[in-house]
Amino acid sequence: MSLIDIDLSAPGILGREAGLQADVKRSHYPCLILNADYQPLSYFPLSLWSWQDAVKAVFLDRVAVVNEYKQVVRSASFEMPIPSVVALKDYVPQNRSPAFTRFNLFLRDGFECVYCSSPDELTFDHLIPRRLGGKTSWTNIVAACSRCNLRKGGRLARDAGMRPRQLPFRPTMHQLQAQGRKFPPNHLHESWLDYLYWDIELKSETE
Ligand SMILES: [Zn+2]
Repeated sequence: MSLIDIDLSAPGILGREAGLQADVKRSHYPCLILNADYQPLSYFPLSLWSWQDAVKAVFLDRVAVVNEYKQVVRSASFEMPIPSVVALKDYVPQNRSPAFTRFNLFLRDGFECVYCSSPDELTFDHLIPRRLGGKTSWTNIVAACSRCNLRKGGRLARDAGMRPRQLPFRPTMHQLQAQGRKFPPNHLHESWLDYLYWDIELKSETE
């Protein structure tokens, strides 16, 4: 049996720490996945693997371990700390086209109303109203607070005396990732923070 075939969920594979064996689930000890350039593979959703997948990737030599939990996994033939951050050895090009989802649309517009910049009660506004043939697409939907949405109603923005601060556009993955860095998730393992924040800090130094 190769190391990869080991059933990592089998009893006894985890370390001795009291209580852990009983309640370890796949959701515990998530591992942050960095691309080969040490940027997270994805911010939204944050690129995470279960610890089992992370340990397998280490054995397959697909990733370098960047940081670790204190918790150890062991079997008869091996023992290793659970990785908390790993970096892929092969760079994955980030040229996918972002999905047209509600979340990605809010992300593109910075979770703010394009008319008044309020972050509250965000809804979606058809720039060209549906009754005038406006489509539900990247280039016609903007984030708008419910107050502005109500005020605009079924009219064109200019007929309502309103003006979006930017016209809607189809974002690239790179643009969404850049937006994502402004909104780091709240619940992070402490060893992840460096990888989520360092580029922002570098940027602010030069500004
Ligand atoms: Zn508004």
